[in-house]
Amino acid sequence: MTRCRVLAPARLTALFARRSRVTLLSVALVCTLTGASAQPAAAQENASAFPRVRSTNPLIVTVLQQASEQSATFSRLVETINASDGLVYVEQGHCGRGARACLVTVKVAGPNRLLSIWIDTRTVDAEFMGLIGHELRHAIEVLSDPGVTNGHDMSNFYQRRGSRSAEGRFETQAAIEAGEAVRAEVRKSRTIASPSFTR
Ligand SMILES: [Zn+2]
Repeated sequence: MTRCRVLAPARLTALFARRSRVTLLSVALVCTLTGASAQPAAAQENASAFPRVRSTNPLIVTVLQQASEQSATFSRLVETINASDGLVYVEQGHCGRGARACLVTVKVAGPNRLLSIWIDTRTVDAEFMGLIGHELRHAIEVLSDPGVTNGHDMSNFYQRRGSRSAEGRFETQAAIEAGEAVRAEVRKSRTIASPSFTR
């Protein structure tokens, strides 16, 4: 598998001038109930059009921007999170059980709730954007309940609300539909010239 070589626009580097690292302590998988490989996650100030959907990974930052431009559904997901008390970090990570993306944790930090999404960045395409959209929908589900403030709460939340897939993951129809909508919209509008960015 070829690693994507999409580079972040130079202006994005300015976004990383101010750094503040936050260690995400609690880990509880929602989409994948197996233990994902322990991996430190870092939070970073991001003064972009995505004040509450962030990444320390320049590739992911670029993809977030492109997906928002190409998919109205993705844009709405970001806007919904921007209007919440959530700070959602999308970072490179391994979820286990063959899952390419997962919502792994929620924790309280002052007035905010920090949520972490991990995604496998080896292949960046419309599917990749759909996966992020899927997990952003899960983040919105969690953020819709102010009582969900840690991984244990999140697990209970999905046990109450979610349905269990054949792979043993918790799943919601809304997240499935959000991911599918993002994929379809991105595929329809793709005009990206980058040879490393495949459909
Ligand atoms: Zn899901």
